[in-house]
Amino acid sequence: MGEKAGAFTANAQEELRLLTLAVNETERAVYVTDAHGILIYANRTFSEIFGHATEEVLGRPVLELLGQSDYDAATMDRLLALVRRGRTFQEEVWAHDRLGNELWLLATVRPVLSMQGQLENLVCVLENTTESRQIQTLQRDVLEAVAQDLPLRQVANLICKRVEKIFPEVVSSILSIDPDKRLRPLALPSLPQYYAQAIDGLPIGPDVGSCGTSAYRGVPVVTEDIETDPLWADYRGLVLPLGLHACWSSPIKLRDGRVAGTFAFYFRQKRGPSNWHEHIVAACLHLCVVAFERHEAKERIDKLAYYDTLTGLPNRALLREQIDAAFRNARPDRQMAFLFLDVDNFKDVNDTLGHSVGDELLVEIAKRLREQLRPGDLVSRHGGDEFVIMLDNCDGDRAGLTADGILDALLRPLHINGLSLPVTASIGISLHPEDGTDSDTLLKNADAAMYQAKSERRATHRFFNRQMNQMGQDRVLLGAALREAVAEHALHLRYQPQISARDGKLLGVEALARWTHPALGEIVPDRFIRLAEQSGLIEAIGEWALEEACRQLKAWDARDLKIPCVSVNISPIHFRNRELLPVVAATLQRHGLSADRLLIEITEGVVMDGCPIAMENTRALQSLGIRLSMDDFGTGYSSLSHLARLPVTELKIDRSFITELEESVNAQTLVTAVIRIGQSLGLTMVAEGVETEAQRRFLQALECDVLQGFLFSKALPPSEFESWFAAYEAGPASDKVRGAA
Ligand code: C2E
Ligand code: MG
Ligand code: MG
Repeated sequence: MGEKAGAFTANAQEELRLLTLAVNETERAVYVTDAHGILIYANRTFSEIFGHATEEVLGRPVLELLGQSDYDAATMDRLLALVRRGRTFQEEVWAHDRLGNELWLLATVRPVLSMQGQLENLVCVLENTTESRQIQTLQRDVLEAVAQDLPLRQVANLICKRVEKIFPEVVSSILSIDPDKRLRPLALPSLPQYYAQAIDGLPIGPDVGSCGTSAYRGVPVVTEDIETDPLWADYRGLVLPLGLHACWSSPIKLRDGRVAGTFAFYFRQKRGPSNWHEHIVAACLHLCVVAFERHEAKERIDKLAYYDTLTGLPNRALLREQIDAAFRNARPDRQMAFLFLDVDNFKDVNDTLGHSVGDELLVEIAKRLREQLRPGDLVSRHGGDEFVIMLDNCDGDRAGLTADGILDALLRPLHINGLSLPVTASIGISLHPEDGTDSDTLLKNADAAMYQAKSERRATHRFFNRQMNQMGQDRVLLGAALREAVAEHALHLRYQPQISARDGKLLGVEALARWTHPALGEIVPDRFIRLAEQSGLIEAIGEWALEEACRQLKAWDARDLKIPCVSVNISPIHFRNRELLPVVAATLQRHGLSADRLLIEITEGVVMDGCPIAMENTRALQSLGIRLSMDDFGTGYSSLSHLARLPVTELKIDRSFITELEESVNAQTLVTAVIRIGQSLGLTMVAEGVETEAQRRFLQALECDVLQGFLFSKALPPSEFESWFAAYEAGPASDKVRGAA
């Protein structure tokens, strides 16, 4: 062996030179101690890692030198036991360098024992693992923060702070790139506020500092001298005064290839990154990708949970959160207004023009609503055709003005698929704090006010008023009360006369339902009819109205009061029911009335439903000899051409047109056209809501057949109607048709 070893080396001195070379030219620190832990040899890397000159350390106790005498007793005992076993072992340990910095080392320790088993030397090889350990802890902490769903800004700040702790000579920043490709500062913990403000919103580009440029190019950009690099021409004034002279920025590239942000190092010296910098930045970029992607995924989920996908508006859940947040941060007397908006006749749009037009209409409405608001206000879609608007710092006056502004904005026809659709809506308003101090109450009250506005039957707004009893605002409770009223026959019918425009004779009466709630007082029919339609009570009400109207007509017959016929309103929903026809027939028969004594008022909804049973019902009723009247004509989206599909004999022009006859030329033209066309189709033309002499004259001049309205009488209970009728008949004939040609 000796000879062989000798063959490798020329002589002992050469052997020593080569050995020293082998031990020194390694990345690892190597040292040897005696049995008492006194350092007797250390290689060059030892000096490099720990910062001690070799001559200073020889002869000193190694544990003390490396700060390891501070190990706790248990660790020390364990290590000593390993040494005594006399076998090589590995252990991750920490130590301090000359300046007191903590280092992590993977130590391979070889105890050298004498023949008698006594410890003679320790040979120790140390690998510096500080860096990978730093990366590991950085990764662990950042991933933990991401897993805890901390906001992206907070995670970015954590990354910057940790990196700056590893590299005290570095100032770091993380910027995000918004969808418009502009820089948005996320984390710059060691840079002044003004710097963040100055770069906020800068569009990325081929020469926008290091960050704007690296985002633009999608590759890292190293600027070793900010003072001279043309990329920094417009921005160097921002950083040079801070003593920063170099910048190295890397794009944060998501897995789909998008550059979502940048991660940058600023240096005080004119320099580029070291290997170790590159190491850490590679790790950090990976963490940034994880954090950015997680953030985007969370935003998408939030968007689904908190935004209406059709209009992009906040949904009901977000609205509530925003209201609650506003209340938390506001003084209790902060004035706020809540507008509950419901589109009129939206169902008709869906039914006649299709759901895609309906959808587009909602999108356009959402756009118009947004345009009407000030910063700080919030518009949300509450579902269906309902929108809720929160107006911050708003009193009743401004709420009213805003509501009117919105209604006006909707009246400008919306253009969809080449169609021009006018939209009207009804708005209910509740005010904070007068009408409630929590979101539930305020929205409920605005909803109740909206119902009041609906009953006005024209684009309008209504304020919630306190007299409306709490219970009255709750659709559910009210629905239960209505169910009870129907079951106990607590509804009533009132009768409104229909007068011949030609000779003033009574042609018939319209039966109109009334409901007086024991606690809430009178509930308007528009409200309880809609409620009945929503809660499955409408058929019961329809059957009851038919029965009661026929019974009353028969009772008047018996007393020789000559009422030619009664009109009963039947909901489109009831028309979908196969039972309608047998019920009508049985009712007439029970009371011994002929078919021409009953007239059924339907609305455009019946046509637009497109339900085959509804169409069948209309034809079957006609074949029984029962006349059908098209009520509220002109409010829906059906046209005269739709009428051809229905066997109606009568057309009732909606009250809203009659109301506007005097002031609106438009209404005059429309009413004239409708009457002319109706006449040409052989239909009986009825005007409802006639209130003034001028209206009557106008309608008579057009030879409208029937007039109904407050000018003659409002709807009256039977006994009052009898008195009215007696007086009417007794009056001079000229009174009845004043102004008739
Ligand atoms: P409608 O069938 O169009 O009834 C006419 C409405 O106009 C009635 O309102 C009537 O009181 C009102 N009116 C009549 N003349 C005038 C006038 O000169 N000026 C003003 N300002 N108003 C006038 P009402 O009674 O509030 O009923 C509202 C709606 O509720 C009815 O409109 C009808 O659609 C529905 N409705 C009422 N009773 C029933 C019913 O028994 N069944 C069904 N399905 N619906 C009903
Ligand atoms: Mg009617
Ligand atoms: Mg009507």
